[in-house]
Amino acid sequence: MKRVRREHTAPELAVRRFLHSAGLRYALHGARLPGRPDLVLPRRCTVVFVHGCFWHGHDCSHGSVQSKTNAPFWARKIADNRARDARQQDELRAAGWRVEVVWECQATDESFLRRLARRLLRR
Ligand SMILES: [Zn+2]
Repeated sequence: MKRVRREHTAPELAVRRFLHSAGLRYALHGARLPGRPDLVLPRRCTVVFVHGCFWHGHDCSHGSVQSKTNAPFWARKIADNRARDARQQDELRAAGWRVEVVWECQATDESFLRRLARRLLRR
């Protein structure tokens, strides 16, 4: 396994483009925050993660490990990732952040992104 966290992935860029065009401004890759959120909106006390469905174990067709060779290995790996994600999100919430997660499979879903943008603009 190479690095789990990749930056500037296609899904991340799609989310950034959409939110930017909706008038939202953000900082990238909050290095000092748990989990290094992909987008940080300090004024709205919100962080956004764009998660790859496979690595972060989304319950969708992209997130399935069934078809992979050595499925038990990946299942364990992904369970670890999910546990770490949950821990980091708890830490962020405890520090007063609102946490939004955009799954890779949602990153090109316009109606999903519109709802997210509306929610963020209200904060
Ligand atoms: Zn997914």
